[in-house]
Amino acid sequence: MSETILNIKSLKVEYNTQEGSVKAVDNLSFSLNKGETLGLVGETGAGKTTTALSIMQLVPNPPGKIVDGEIYFNGINLLNQKNDEMRKIRGNKISMIFQDPMTSLNPVMTVGSQIAETIMLHQKFSKKRAAEKAEEMLDLVGIPKNRAGEYPHQFSGGMRQRVGIAMALSCNPELLISDEPTTALDVTIQAQVLELMKKLKEQFKTSMLLITHDLGVVAEVCDKVAIMYAGKVVEFADVHTLFTKPKHPYTKGLFNSIPSLDEEVDRLKPIKGTMPDPTNLPRGCSFHPRCPYAQEICKVQEPDITELEDGTKVSCLIYQGLVSDGK
Ligand code: SF4
Repeated sequence: MSETILNIKSLKVEYNTQEGSVKAVDNLSFSLNKGETLGLVGETGAGKTTTALSIMQLVPNPPGKIVDGEIYFNGINLLNQKNDEMRKIRGNKISMIFQDPMTSLNPVMTVGSQIAETIMLHQKFSKKRAAEKAEEMLDLVGIPKNRAGEYPHQFSGGMRQRVGIAMALSCNPELLISDEPTTALDVTIQAQVLELMKKLKEQFKTSMLLITHDLGVVAEVCDKVAIMYAGKVVEFADVHTLFTKPKHPYTKGLFNSIPSLDEEVDRLKPIKGTMPDPTNLPRGCSFHPRCPYAQEICKVQEPDITELEDGTKVSCLIYQGLVSDGK
């Protein structure tokens, strides 16, 4: 049986805003096996980044707060760890790649010294050995060693993301969290960076949580997928099952709104409406105002999670036999 590296149970995270309390993540549960890549997919505001920040214990408090739940990493509940314990885990056992590498890079330090500093913070390396390892890491991500003495602004966006990857992998973390790592890049550079991440993940045997809104990226690198909507996971499946037999009306809507090479369609069908206001989520199923199958019961009853024969977990009343899907 595969070993679980990350297990999130009933996580709830709220933010206090002037408009009231926002449930950014609401009763979220999923797990990730060792060596696997899990895609966390959803529109902006679905709660993906808050989930990642919760794992890292970096939810800004205030205004954010983890109000309930458990996050097990290798069997240890991260939410019970003291700050200094978490500091040892962050960057060492769990590291993160951000959408904009400038967020994680110090603009006034050379990239080589930044990577070396991360290495020395977590491992007992001499300054000289850390500098050498930093150069090795740059080499590994396709950046010539002689550029170690340059500053972040001297690199292009794609190259900066490579530096971010080198830094994140420099302590050989067991879990890598990548938050929209290729979104800010040109399409061709995106493909190169994704290819590099895939290669290094295999080489380092790292488990990965990949946050994205792009199903193309998911198809490229993920083993499993969790689709998030309004702070909840609405569908969880392996990548093949999700792409061949999506179940949740929201997931189906996501697929209908991307171009297909196999089918000729006159127009794409975007999901009608927008994400609900998080301070005022609809009662019942939060997707009901946008769902083509919604019935009266969906406005009042919140769906449970149903596990189907093919292993998919889905949160929709259709699969509880309470709503018809029109077939
Ligand atoms: Fe649509 Fe109802 Fe299922 Fe929600 S519970 S996704 S509204 S059919």
